[in-house]
Amino acid sequence: MSRKFSCSPKAIKELIHANLLPILTVSGVTGGAVLGLILRYSREEHWTKREVMYVGYIGELFLRALKALIIPLIVSSLVSAIGSLDLSLSKKIGLRAIAYYMTTTVLAVILGIILVVSIHPGKGSDEGIKKAGEARDVYTPDLLMDLLRNLFPPNLIQACFETHKTIIIQPKLKDLENDTRKEEWIRKYNWTEGTLPPKAEWELGTEHTRALNIMGLVSFATLLGLALSTLGAKGKPLLDFFHSLSDASMVITSWLIWISPVGILFLVASMIIEMEDFSVMLGQLGLYFGTVILGIFIHGFLILPAIYTIFTRKLPFRFLANMSQAYITAFATASSSGTMPVTFQCLEEKNKIDPRVTRFVIPIGATINMDGTALYEAVAAIFIAQVRGIALTIGQVVAISITATAAAIGAAGIPQAGLVTMVMVLDVVGLPAEDMTLIIAVDWLLDRFRTMINVLGDSIGAGLVYELSKKELEQMSINANGDVERPSNEIAMDAVESSKM
Ligand code: ASP
Repeated sequence: MSRKFSCSPKAIKELIHANLLPILTVSGVTGGAVLGLILRYSREEHWTKREVMYVGYIGELFLRALKALIIPLIVSSLVSAIGSLDLSLSKKIGLRAIAYYMTTTVLAVILGIILVVSIHPGKGSDEGIKKAGEARDVYTPDLLMDLLRNLFPPNLIQACFETHKTIIIQPKLKDLENDTRKEEWIRKYNWTEGTLPPKAEWELGTEHTRALNIMGLVSFATLLGLALSTLGAKGKPLLDFFHSLSDASMVITSWLIWISPVGILFLVASMIIEMEDFSVMLGQLGLYFGTVILGIFIHGFLILPAIYTIFTRKLPFRFLANMSQAYITAFATASSSGTMPVTFQCLEEKNKIDPRVTRFVIPIGATINMDGTALYEAVAAIFIAQVRGIALTIGQVVAISITATAAAIGAAGIPQAGLVTMVMVLDVVGLPAEDMTLIIAVDWLLDRFRTMINVLGDSIGAGLVYELSKKELEQMSINANGDVERPSNEIAMDAVESSKM
């Protein structure tokens, strides 16, 4: 079938009109890059933090508005999606989503390991690698237990702004003057000020960091949704409330999306002014950077689309192109949770994915499904071992893959969360947390790329689960009397349409 392209002014106008948002967004990114480069090279001296803040100020406002939507969106979409599902049918949808998350994360880790072992970016010396920053002391079992603790927040209000963190405090010989453990430790561990007892013996402490506990909110919203779905008519008023909240959040999202090109422009400009010298990209750090980028692009643009095509028998190009607004926002914000409103919008409005799937798959995916992060964790840990000249055994490589998967699941969808959970991966091969500082210089940029792939992975997951679950979704739409309910995506779409000015 041949299609005629016309170049008449009317056709061009229509084309621009139909693609106005992507055109504006790409212009935002390019404009931001040009502005950033002009400002950066317009003078000799460094830009101060305050000046960078001024340049990025409009972007910061956009980001704050986007973040404000995270709580209402996550909670309302999960409760309304799970609450209105027929449990016997939704179990299948849920299992498909989990199978997809796990398989793709493991594939990403394996790909990362193959690449880092064959490219071998670490040359056995840390010369030329910039050291910066400080790492915190951690003990892997504590990190894993914190993951579960955060899944069960004791106070929901607190979960909206604080996350639990266990800290361990290094004991000092001089602080233990009257402590009965002193003699025992000196004997048992041959302890002097230079050596230390194992981390399991350090003092335990608790800290609450100022960060949204997304895991906790996701688990509570899931439970509430499940409870409402079993309550039937009695649960309907509350369920309607969450439906309505979720639709209203989507309407606000659609407004925000129209101002996103301006926000993105200033975010990209400030990022360029702030970034480290390009010279750190040369040498082995550059090779490490290249290995991670190669891996996440192979994974995101070859493996994941291939999985989509194999299972759905559909070409992925249009689907992927329709998501571009979400990738660009992910790159600009470095946060998959922050990008979530845009991800919903692209999936539901452009790719016409049923919200009963997106509202279920995306909030959970944005929290636990991070293919880009998983690949990066594995590459980074092995790269550091290579720099330190440590030859890893097969057992250690397997241990890295398992912890890299856990570290990616545990990382929150916020900027550089992966760097924090990587301490856990380093720990399993006996590398100190301080070694994380070897890769800090390029992490801010890698973070943006891996966030893009994290968002892409969630989106393909939603598309795939939707295609595979059409039968169940149709059945759910036929209510008990045999009437066909109006699919909730049409209702949500109407709300967004009527909100457009
Ligand atoms: N910034 C990433 C995200 O939000 C997480 C990470 O890898 O640090 O998806």
